[in-house]
Amino acid sequence: MSDDPEIRKDLLDDGFSDKEIEELQKAIKSSEKLSNTLRAYNRAVEKADQQEKFYQRKISKLKQNIDNKVSAGRKNGFMKKAVSPSKSRSASSSNKTPVMRGVVTKEYDGDRIWVEPKSAPRGEYGVDVPSGFDAEDLNAGTEVALDPQNFTILDVVKESKDPDFKPVESDKTFSDVGGLDEVIDTLRRNVGVQLNDERRAKVDEWGLDLDKSLMLVGPPGTGKTLLVKALANEYDIDMYMVNGPQLVEKFIGEGAKKIRRLYSQARSGERPSIVFIDEIDSIAKKRQEDRRHGGEEVERTMSQLLSEIDGLDKEDGNQNVISVFATNNPSILDPAIINRCSAVEVGVPGGKAKKEILQVHTRDFPLDEGLDFGKVVEEVPEDYTGRDIAQICKQAAINALYSEDGFEDIEVEISDFMAAIKDLKEGNIGMGKEFIGQDNEFHEEIFA
Ligand code: ATP
Repeated sequence: MSDDPEIRKDLLDDGFSDKEIEELQKAIKSSEKLSNTLRAYNRAVEKADQQEKFYQRKISKLKQNIDNKVSAGRKNGFMKKAVSPSKSRSASSSNKTPVMRGVVTKEYDGDRIWVEPKSAPRGEYGVDVPSGFDAEDLNAGTEVALDPQNFTILDVVKESKDPDFKPVESDKTFSDVGGLDEVIDTLRRNVGVQLNDERRAKVDEWGLDLDKSLMLVGPPGTGKTLLVKALANEYDIDMYMVNGPQLVEKFIGEGAKKIRRLYSQARSGERPSIVFIDEIDSIAKKRQEDRRHGGEEVERTMSQLLSEIDGLDKEDGNQNVISVFATNNPSILDPAIINRCSAVEVGVPGGKAKKEILQVHTRDFPLDEGLDFGKVVEEVPEDYTGRDIAQICKQAAINALYSEDGFEDIEVEISDFMAAIKDLKEGNIGMGKEFIGQDNEFHEEIFA
């Protein structure tokens, strides 16, 4: 303010001396610094709150598991050493003997467990608790695989959760996302309206036909996945993440089955959930005249997806499943899917957004006090995304750690950023290297 010659003149006219004006300038600068520190502090508090919630949830889940185990152990009068499911699965899968299905009829009585085969010869047989299992897992009604020779229990038959689709845990929050405030606001409103009972009731009352899902459109590395992770965490909901190419199958009908399983898994939980499909263009292409090259299979997968979005298949379970898709190639999308989605653009960050992303990725760094991110941004190429900026920050920190000034009072300086940007531009760091990621075959192999 007092840099402005006019204001300065006014102040002089009002009787302020040069020294007083200088002190005023200093006071203003300190207060700006203070409010920046306050903002950073508030962000840190917000993030800490979110993380606390995340860990509280984890702790209460763990406590619940322990309580269940302890009470089941007491009920059975003893506790055996638990065996991890993967261990028990591998033990059973390596077992080549034929098995028969059976059911536990009476739980462990301190001596044996009673089972009944589901096929001849019928009858009840008393058997030992198989090694590697807890008696508590073998309650009456538990389906088991039996050895047909002596009816000993080989394994528990679980109506297992689909191993292909598990909820992804995330501790990301919106404070980890830079330069996308408007997008965040849109996501909050679109998802919030579906999860908030009062607003949902109004939507129904007013007969609004809301879009069933969201489509995030933007180049790779602009933060689409990051946004969805933060969204799921913010609303404390489960998130199922899949890459479109993972759903493309060689055999007719297989892709559609995977979609059905994915959504059925998402509906099976008690909490609302998000199904996030990245690279949706791989399965939601415009209808193809040419049915060769897997066109028919892709179409079937797509039809199944449409009916899941429309909710035609939600016969039971949790109805609150929100679909979020992402693409960097919207021009090839089938209008049928576009019409069902609210499209949200997640573009390459402009100057201000780049600065905010730099701030996010350096908030825990000891930065040189005089560091001006405006100057750093001037050197960052226009088409650089959030992913590139995260890479620059990482490299700048590494540069600082190896600077000749030593470890005492180490600070990350503008020169560290400039060196990182130069390296990234020249392809010495980052994913722009020609030997990675350029080859489609390599990409397809990962998701095969
Ligand atoms: P793709 O299309 O390749 O899947 P994407 O748009 O989903 O890319 P992300 O995977 O979300 O991009 O971003 C990769 C990483 O880049 C993030 O984990 C984060 O570190 C950084 N990043 C990207 N955008 C932002 C942003 N707006 N704010 C902060 N970090 C970002």
